[in-house]
Amino acid sequence: MSGDEAGPYVGIGDVVTRVEARCPVCMVEGAFNYVDLLYDAPYYGKVLISVGRCGSCGYRFFDILYADAGEPVRYTYLVEDLIDVARTMIIRSKTGAIHSPDLGFSLEPGPYAEPFITTLEGFLYRVVDYAERLMVTNEEARDRVGQFIEGVHRILEAGSTFRIVVEDPEGKSIIVPPPGREWKLTKETIKTSGED
Ligand SMILES: [Zn+2]
Repeated sequence: MSGDEAGPYVGIGDVVTRVEARCPVCMVEGAFNYVDLLYDAPYYGKVLISVGRCGSCGYRFFDILYADAGEPVRYTYLVEDLIDVARTMIIRSKTGAIHSPDLGFSLEPGPYAEPFITTLEGFLYRVVDYAERLMVTNEEARDRVGQFIEGVHRILEAGSTFRIVVEDPEGKSIIVPPPGREWKLTKETIKTSGED
């Protein structure tokens, strides 16, 4: 699979390490491309994002390290226009859930959840893909899902006001607002399910 992650992280941080190493899975020398990106923002402090990919066997590595990692968090960002849609970044680890109470969708991490970094725009296209697949497999939901897809397309064309929420029990998923718009992001510490 060629994947959809070729380059969406470019521009999110400064590259501090870039190596072509031996793949830890297939052992092919030089096939494993590994990049450390340092993202530095007043709101989070320093975030180190590690992305690796093997050109030979397709093995992928993704990790996020930052000051508050390990703490269950919920980020809520208020999207208001096309700049928010195009330039907000979503970094989702394997344990992150993404939902929008206003748009009426929820993406929970399954057992095979893949981490990703994408713009909100890219994420919304992903949501449309899921919804289109749901339409094929679920006749009863067809009308409702069709309306949902139309709504998302309107947002992609004209922008809209809605909240996007990222929750992660391990604190490894974050929303990165467009530069200068950090004040629109709220961060809460949450209880993980089962604790109360
Ligand atoms: Zn490999």
